[in-house]
Amino acid sequence: MLQRVDVGKRSVEAYDRIAPAGTVEEVRARAEALRGARVLHLSATPYGGGVSELLRSMVPLLNDLGLSADWQVISGNEAFFDVTKTIHNGLQGASRDLDAASRRRYRETSARNAASLEGEYDFVFVHDPQPAGILDARGKRGERWVWRCHIDTSEPDADVWEYVRGFLSSYDAAIFTMREFLPPDLPIADVEIIPPAIDPLSPKNMTLADSTTRGVLDWIGIELNKPLVTQVSRFDPWKDPLGVIAAYRLARQEVPGLQLALVGSMALDDPEAWDVYREITAVSDGDPLIHVFTNLTGVGNIEVNAFQRHSDVVVQKSIREGFGLVVSEAMWKRTPVVAGRAGGIPLQMADDAGGMLVDGVDDCAVAVVRLLQDPETAAFRGRRGRQRVREHFLLPRLLLNELALMESLVAERPLPTRPTPAMTRDPVCGIAVPTRPGLPSVELDGRTYVFCSERCRERFLADSEHFSGGAAVGAVPERLDGSPRSLPHPPARRGAVR
Ligand code: UDP
Repeated sequence: MLQRVDVGKRSVEAYDRIAPAGTVEEVRARAEALRGARVLHLSATPYGGGVSELLRSMVPLLNDLGLSADWQVISGNEAFFDVTKTIHNGLQGASRDLDAASRRRYRETSARNAASLEGEYDFVFVHDPQPAGILDARGKRGERWVWRCHIDTSEPDADVWEYVRGFLSSYDAAIFTMREFLPPDLPIADVEIIPPAIDPLSPKNMTLADSTTRGVLDWIGIELNKPLVTQVSRFDPWKDPLGVIAAYRLARQEVPGLQLALVGSMALDDPEAWDVYREITAVSDGDPLIHVFTNLTGVGNIEVNAFQRHSDVVVQKSIREGFGLVVSEAMWKRTPVVAGRAGGIPLQMADDAGGMLVDGVDDCAVAVVRLLQDPETAAFRGRRGRQRVREHFLLPRLLLNELALMESLVAERPLPTRPTPAMTRDPVCGIAVPTRPGLPSVELDGRTYVFCSERCRERFLADSEHFSGGAAVGAVPERLDGSPRSLPHPPARRGAVR
């Protein structure tokens, strides 16, 4: 039997006053059509990292909506998670070698987990590559299988991708965070674009009284009378903690007394984290203004909340990134963010919402100093960040997208007719956007194209032939209004910074 994660109870009602108008109502309507559906979310770890963060909130809400949802985690020894980290890094574009022993270990552990998987389900959502081999080993028993890829797989290591690809062909659908993340020759025809979202009511994101925030940080050793820059991230080379320290040291030359907090979690499936932790402590050791914390020393959700709320600037200097929930978490708290132009971060911070996007250490230092020295700009961008998260990156929107996907996967079964949701699709990034007035749009050849941001609108205008030909909103809004489901391959990256 796999470990079942106990997630407690949540009520979707509570999100009505916080999500954009009508979203929760739409979620309820969609869920009605799926009442009683048995859903399994399968992942590699019950804590640490974005996937567990999402599932902790999603699963109880699905139950509250009348579905029957479970979350189970696979098991494996350290050697298995070394292999899956190699796969993870290879899929994100690092050159990696998967030798025969690694391949055997992956296949054998997948088979063992498949044999331990209990329960009967209508839908199985498999998160990331770690559990992806289970379907191949177990076979389908009437379920619809969805591979939910949270990472940027647009330019994977060819051998690693070839290996992982071999486990994917029986999946019924795949979900990616952005169109640009689709790998070459994905063997799954039915692709949905759904960015993750944050739970505004979780202990990590709920409103905290200023006195609580200050009390929590004071208790763990932050000096409240000195400015503070924080990065909250797994200790992972792609999150570039050493680059953060280098940028911080440059910024400190301009802002004496500036403190840095690196808050990192150790996830079960991430054996590399300890090496990175050791490197960080070696580089920062003895510097009284650099604080390094982990979940293992009691820095949990409330502390992360306090850091993201109290910091003068939150940094997320990722080099590669899937989505980067931490960015939306900080933006939701109106805290200015300086973040690497990687993966899903520019989607979150489009049109300068939240703060500044940067490329490299020097750029990062300059942006941090700018936001520290120009509180008006920092506050303005912080407010825009909160707005953008509310519009696009809160949990009810994610629920809506996933329910719509499930509904389409059982479309051949008789289902009550649902009203078409008031959503359409941004033809550039591919995410679902509301059709209400106010969002950037373009009229072209008698169609209206709606965008999540000016940034997407500008990219559309720069290559409207491409974007209107493939995933145009008016023409091909996939599932959201019942037209074709598979997305065209995204255009070649232009100007993407890695
Ligand atoms: N996180 C945390 N404690 C830490 C480091 C990270 O709770 O010490 C959380 C963070 O708040 C976020 C998630 O882990 O909710 C990380 O998700 P993200 O998408 O940013 O990155 P991932 O780890 O999935 O690559």
